[in-house]
Amino acid sequence: MLFAWLIYINDVDGLITESRKGMFVDDLSLYIADTDQTRAVARLNDDLQRIYNWSITNHMVFSYNKFHIIDVGGRRMKQSNLQQISFGQGTPPVSVQAKLLGCMIDSKFSFIPQIVEVTSKMKAVAFKLRKLATTRSGLSPFELHNIFMSYIFPRGEYASCIWIFRVFLPYRRVFFKQAQNAGEIFHISRKVMFGYGKRWRTLNNFYMDCMRRIIGVNDESPSSVAVLVRMGIMPLQYEFVYRAVLWYIKIARGETDQLLTDQLESFSGTDSTFSMTCFYQHCGNYVKQLSNVGGVNLLDVGLRQRKEEVKRAIFMELDEYWKGLSEARLTREIHPRWEERKLPAIMGRRYTHTVMHRMALGRGPLRAVIHRRREAKLQRCRYGCEAKEDAFHVVMNCTKTKGRREIIKKICLKKKIEFSMKTLFSDLQLQDEVESLIGVFLNV
Ligand SMILES: [Zn+2]
Repeated sequence: MLFAWLIYINDVDGLITESRKGMFVDDLSLYIADTDQTRAVARLNDDLQRIYNWSITNHMVFSYNKFHIIDVGGRRMKQSNLQQISFGQGTPPVSVQAKLLGCMIDSKFSFIPQIVEVTSKMKAVAFKLRKLATTRSGLSPFELHNIFMSYIFPRGEYASCIWIFRVFLPYRRVFFKQAQNAGEIFHISRKVMFGYGKRWRTLNNFYMDCMRRIIGVNDESPSSVAVLVRMGIMPLQYEFVYRAVLWYIKIARGETDQLLTDQLESFSGTDSTFSMTCFYQHCGNYVKQLSNVGGVNLLDVGLRQRKEEVKRAIFMELDEYWKGLSEARLTREIHPRWEERKLPAIMGRRYTHTVMHRMALGRGPLRAVIHRRREAKLQRCRYGCEAKEDAFHVVMNCTKTKGRREIIKKICLKKKIEFSMKTLFSDLQLQDEVESLIGVFLNV
């Protein structure tokens, strides 16, 4: 069988003379472009006829009803012309979308069907995360995030570099006088392009829901940005773009297939062609922007340092944005910078551990939070202190937690760590004791 297949690949290659072709394993795609619709069909039929004749001679049956004819042109073909395309006696079906190498291609190159598909693929495996992330028992945020990144995220990542820029930046602006986000460069503040709002929101809400579950704040709706900063991770679009950037640099430096490097060079040769690309144009601009932000030309960075350098620049950009926001007062005090952060790998109990994260986000099972909009009396400390029961009081002043506080103060003294809300909620060396203090307060 393999032998027959090798013959097929060899022979088919020689049969196609009119179209351009792409072959991968048993996937064969033909592309044809022509200003004349009738001639385009005739040329494609010539190639198909040769393949058909070859299949008859070699006793190999291709079922034409599994073919897909997709019209991806800017000017649409007439349906009657598309129906003239034939393979032997049959007319292959005209489709609006079809899978090519595992990526859903649609006739508008919107990649919306692909986004919809990866969303449902990720959702299909997320039940495991939900099961492992219950508040009382369950895995640590550190472990859960690892599970998300190695098990759930890859299902969304595949082929994402093709479509991620399309969600935020224009493509084919040739057809519009002034496209939305025209001339812009990828950035966290970019609004989603028309037509992508619903799809992107569904995917991003799913991501944020997973992140909230991971650190146990899913019922308390803290701001998304604060959750990401607390976890020390990037927004979803940046996770995709980060990987796209690594691809772009590889291609530009000729570290991957030479064909891609040649393609990039031929496209970037003329401005008008380059501005019609999506990945190359927008990713190229973004690499330039990141290089400015980080002060290092990322195209010059070798393989060993590259991931670190790209991440460093990305987090500098995100940090700039975080500094310009005014929301999440307490989280900003604890995390004045948005930076990559390792979550604590050690956890006492899932419950107290997640309460610690919740408190860092200005949430948690505290009276000042629960009765936020009600009278001051209700918000007062449950142990009779004349103070509002908020994160600051629990950790810094409450009589109930005095003993634990003294222990933490001693550790701070010994390890030369400042004793503040910032260090208590972010220094990994204090994490364990802060968790115990919270346990004492909550009597668990
Ligand atoms: Zn108190």
